[in-house]
Amino acid sequence: MDIRIEKTATPKQKPTDESKLGFGQIFSDHMLIVDYENGKGWFNARIVPFQNLSFSPATAVFHYGCEIFEGLKAYRTAEGNVQLFRPIENVRRMNNSAERMCLPQMDEEDMLQLIEKYVEVEKDWVPNTFGTSLYLRPFILGIDETLGVHTIQKAQFLIIASPSGSYYPEGINPVKIMIETEDVRAVRGGTGYAKCGGNYAASTRAGHKAELQGYSQVLWLDGVEQKYIEEVGAMNVMFKIDGTVVTPGLYGSVLPGITRKSCIELLKDKGIAVEERKISADELFQALREGRLEEAWGTGTAAVVSPIGELSYKGEKYTINNFEIGETTQWLYDTLTGMQWGKTEDNKGWIVPIK
Ligand SMILES: *Cc1c(COP(=O)(O)O)cnc(C)c1O
Repeated sequence: MDIRIEKTATPKQKPTDESKLGFGQIFSDHMLIVDYENGKGWFNARIVPFQNLSFSPATAVFHYGCEIFEGLKAYRTAEGNVQLFRPIENVRRMNNSAERMCLPQMDEEDMLQLIEKYVEVEKDWVPNTFGTSLYLRPFILGIDETLGVHTIQKAQFLIIASPSGSYYPEGINPVKIMIETEDVRAVRGGTGYAKCGGNYAASTRAGHKAELQGYSQVLWLDGVEQKYIEEVGAMNVMFKIDGTVVTPGLYGSVLPGITRKSCIELLKDKGIAVEERKISADELFQALREGRLEEAWGTGTAAVVSPIGELSYKGEKYTINNFEIGETTQWLYDTLTGMQWGKTEDNKGWIVPIK
C-alpha cells in the first residue's frame, strides 16, 4: 500500500517529565488515515498532521455506533530501539471485530505495514522510561452520510498515538473489584468478542456505580444466567486455585485479549496447568471461603497484569493473598514487561522491531 506522508510544519513540544504522562491525554504530531468505499476498497493512505475530523451530522457512526478499535503499544528499549508486541494479533482481532460489525476488513499485511510505518514516523514520541510507552489507537469508523440503517458503504481506518505513563508509577498496587449483579456487558451472539465502542458505552453505568462504592472496576457475569465469571472492565481475568490457573473460556461474550493469550502460553511453557472453562461466582467464592484461591489478576495491554486484592459479591467481601501481589502474577508481569521493554530475550518471536 502506498502511504503519502505530510509532515507537520509545527511540531509540538514533547513532554519532558515522563512521570506525569497519564493515559491518553496528549497526542503525537501525526495521524494516519485510509479511506474505504464499497467497490473501490481501501485507498488514499496518508500520514498527516494530527487534526480534527469533519463529518456531516448525519454520519452513521454518530447514530448507530459503527465503530471498532484496537489498543497496542510501542515500547522503547534501554538501547533506544522501538518495538511492538505481537501486532499481528491486533490486526487479526481488528478484522474479526470488523466482520462482526459489518465494517470493511483489511489485508493483514497492509494493516501491519500501516501500523509499522506510522510508528516509524512517530518514533521520537515513544517515551524512554521503563513502563512508559506510545499507546497506539487504530480504529475504523462507518461514515455513510445517511440515517438509513444499512451495511456500511464508506469507512475510514485511522491511527492516533498517545505517549502514556507507567500504569504503576508507585509500584504494583492490588485493586478492589466488585461483581456486578444487575447490568451485563455482553451475551453470546452479541458483540462481546468484538472490540467496539458500543460495548464500552453500555458498561459505563456499572463501572460508575462500582466507583461510587470504592471499587476500581466491575467483574462481569454472563448475560444469560448471571452466574459465570466473564471479565473485568477492560481486562480478562485469571484465578489461581489449588495451584491451577483458571480463566473463563472464549465462548463469544468475552473479549479475546492478547495479554490473556500470552499469559496462557507462558504459564503452560512454565509447566503451570491452565484451564479455560466456565467458572461460576459460586465456585470462586467457595474457593475463597476455603482458602484455596491463591491469586487473582486481570490481564490487558494497559496494565499488563493487575493483581486483585479484594473481591465483593452480593455484600460478601474477601481479601485475596493479604492484598499483596502473588508469585504467579509477579512472574507474569516480569516476564511480559521484560520482553516488551527489551530487558529479556524474546524466545517466542513476539517482538517486532521498528526501523
Ligand atoms: C482490549 C480489551 C481487553 C484486553 O485485551 P488485550 O489484547 O490484552 O489488551 C479485555 N477486555 C476488553 C473488554 C477489552 O476491550
